[in-house]
Amino acid sequence: MPYLFPPTVPAVAVKGRPDQFPVHRIYCVGRNYAAHAREMGANPDREPPFFFAKPADAIVPGNSRIPYPSRTNNFHHEIELVVAIGKGGRDIAAAQALDHVYGYAVGNDLTRRDLQSDAKDNGRPWDTSKGFDRSAAISAITPAAQSGHLRSGRIWLKVNGQMRQQADLSELIWSVPEIIAELSTFFELQPGDLIYTGTPAGVGALKKGDRIEGGIDGLDELVTTIE
Ligand code: MN
Repeated sequence: MPYLFPPTVPAVAVKGRPDQFPVHRIYCVGRNYAAHAREMGANPDREPPFFFAKPADAIVPGNSRIPYPSRTNNFHHEIELVVAIGKGGRDIAAAQALDHVYGYAVGNDLTRRDLQSDAKDNGRPWDTSKGFDRSAAISAITPAAQSGHLRSGRIWLKVNGQMRQQADLSELIWSVPEIIAELSTFFELQPGDLIYTGTPAGVGALKKGDRIEGGIDGLDELVTTIE
């Protein structure tokens, strides 16, 4: 049967390939670096990481201009390793989890921090603070066949040339295989799922005109401008 109007398929470029990675869902991990958990007022020893989601069409490719979002006065950057799932499954064992990874990208989990704080204070959901339009910036995906699986390496973010976030992937509280194993007990993973794996310390506010550069060793840099 035909559609009433053309369906949109959000997709991410793949390094070295003409075909794109079609996005099914976007999952995100909260508080997955101890220093960031502490800067958000949480205790990483008492509180394990947890999951939330963004809509698939929240993705924004690199070299985009992102309008400063409505309804916030505290719009934050969060640089993150993104895992692109190529093979689905449920109850995936950590030992097999990397077989489900298609590749990796650099992501920015853009956040209306003021709305997130209100939501936390009032026990409300995070959709307006985390799952808003254009809240998931992402670089091209590098296939794991090219990069290998990323277990360590520098992750960093600069605003207008100034370093704001800098850490190493080895500091993740939950590793990529552990995240996939745990997430797949809540949701059946599908090819096309993206997992934002959490941000290191140093999150901070953005303003109009800011140029954001983010990188992870072995992956394409993510550059975006706020307008
Ligand atoms: Mn995040």
